[in-house]
Amino acid sequence: MDNSVTPLRCFRECHALELFKDDSVKTVTSVEQKKVECSIQEVFSVYQQNHTLPQPALLREQHYVYLKKGLRHLSDAYECLDASRPWLCYWILHSLELLDEPVPASVASDVCKFLACCQSPTGGFAGGPGQHAHLAPTYAAVNALCIIGTQEAYDVIDRQKLLDFLYSVKQADGSFVMHVGGEVDVRSVYCAASVASLTNIITPTLFNDTPSWIIRCQNWEGGLGGVPGLEAHGGYTFCGTAAMVILGREHMLDLKSLLRWVASRQMRFEGGFQGRCNKLVDGCYSFWQAGLLPLLHRALFKDGDSTLSMMSWMFDQQALQEYILLCCQNPAGGLLDKPGKSRDFYHTCYCLSGLSIAQHFGSRDFHHELILGADENRLAPTHPVYNICPEKVAQAVEHFHKLPIPVQTEAAINTPDTS
Ligand SMILES: [Zn+2]
Repeated sequence: MDNSVTPLRCFRECHALELFKDDSVKTVTSVEQKKVECSIQEVFSVYQQNHTLPQPALLREQHYVYLKKGLRHLSDAYECLDASRPWLCYWILHSLELLDEPVPASVASDVCKFLACCQSPTGGFAGGPGQHAHLAPTYAAVNALCIIGTQEAYDVIDRQKLLDFLYSVKQADGSFVMHVGGEVDVRSVYCAASVASLTNIITPTLFNDTPSWIIRCQNWEGGLGGVPGLEAHGGYTFCGTAAMVILGREHMLDLKSLLRWVASRQMRFEGGFQGRCNKLVDGCYSFWQAGLLPLLHRALFKDGDSTLSMMSWMFDQQALQEYILLCCQNPAGGLLDKPGKSRDFYHTCYCLSGLSIAQHFGSRDFHHELILGADENRLAPTHPVYNICPEKVAQAVEHFHKLPIPVQTEAAINTPDTS
């Protein structure tokens, strides 16, 4: 595909019309917004001056080196993530699979052994060895193990205990707490639904009343908040919507108002997404927000909506790719929130995931690619529900569906409800 003739959106004459207008009313928010636009304008201008034929490049090699090093060695700056160690495994492994970079078998095996140490004796995974089980690292660990996809990786997961853990955090109203004695929010429902569906441990009662709790999180804005009554937010909206897709209940949501909300979160000037109304652009929402569009597209397609495109998602895929490639890459590898911020593995994972969503429309017969820049920029597709590569989802589902669904044990039934 020859993209050299495609002018970049951010170099069009009329692009300046997309700048934020404060209607002569200065607020803290409007001042911050203008500052960010200024810094992004500068990135665009510098790029334009240095490149006569603009073909923004994905810095594959640099990202690969940064990621590979992170699997073995982390700087002191990561000390604060000591309770998120399975997340680091997942962020790095998923970024590598998007870049089509294989992980050596010995490294994969070491990750399996490390994650086995994070598995709690009471089921589920903790943020590190000896810590308490928590739904977030449980999601990250199961995803990481499914990406590795070996027998050793699958065998790490104690499915019976995982089910016991999920029952121990299930609440009477259908919601889940993140950990025993912890807080409720819609992330927990997604984490629980994701791991339970991948490992085939969904019992008839595990998600009783969960869909009706999730729809209470959708508010007047159209997006979902962390719990009923809170402001709509990209991360929570993705979690609630993806959980509904897993549970086959996405039509209980108001899909059209959700679509309007998420489409409006793509920033007119920057091309990336904001997490909430009136907030600043941030690279990680390239996945949390743009990842909603495939989920919505499929849900509306199932409804027989004849106005849907069969070529593109309902957001500006080129604009998002321009934002990620021009504004979110650290020249030394790794990706970031916005110009001026430092790189980290979280933003590397979700910028690359969002870039993949923006490059690949649909799947199988309806697959259509829109790769900005050279073909070497092409990432592997990602599964919009689980955010691991689709073949790894299929492989895990095939493996675990050969195994019987565990039954709810006495221990789980007797766990007191902490709500
Ligand atoms: Zn972010």
